[in-house]
Amino acid sequence: MPVVSLRLDFSTQGRSEVIDITEQVAEGVMQSGIANGVVTIFVPGSTAALTTVEFEGGLIEDFQVLWELLIPQDREYGHNEKWHDGNAHSHLRASLLGPSLSVPFIDRRLNLGTWQQIVLVDFDNRPRSRKVICQIIGE
Ligand code: ZN
Repeated sequence: MPVVSLRLDFSTQGRSEVIDITEQVAEGVMQSGIANGVVTIFVPGSTAALTTVEFEGGLIEDFQVLWELLIPQDREYGHNEKWHDGNAHSHLRASLLGPSLSVPFIDRRLNLGTWQQIVLVDFDNRPRSRKVICQIIGE
């Protein structure tokens, strides 16, 4: 069964920045030569995550408020006490959201909902260079 792997690169600002990567993933699937299958998208790193969301400003703001409510930046954490890098909240948020996503595609098109975008979320507390791995499997 054919497998195509590709790497996408992003510069992020961190601090729960949400980046719409749908177009880049869709383009990768289009150009893979594979018509039907599944694309697994994975972000290496312990302070970034992937999910889907309706990518519109109001909801992105709500999303960021939610993370601050669930896992506030401003409290004491064992990781910060041990490493003094101040990003325990980043690690915890990334673990909870998860580093990967699988999306099926049919006739080279991702089967996403109309208002459903694939997003990379960078929870770190500083700007980062991120790579996202797409592995496309199908026939
Ligand atoms: Zn850390």
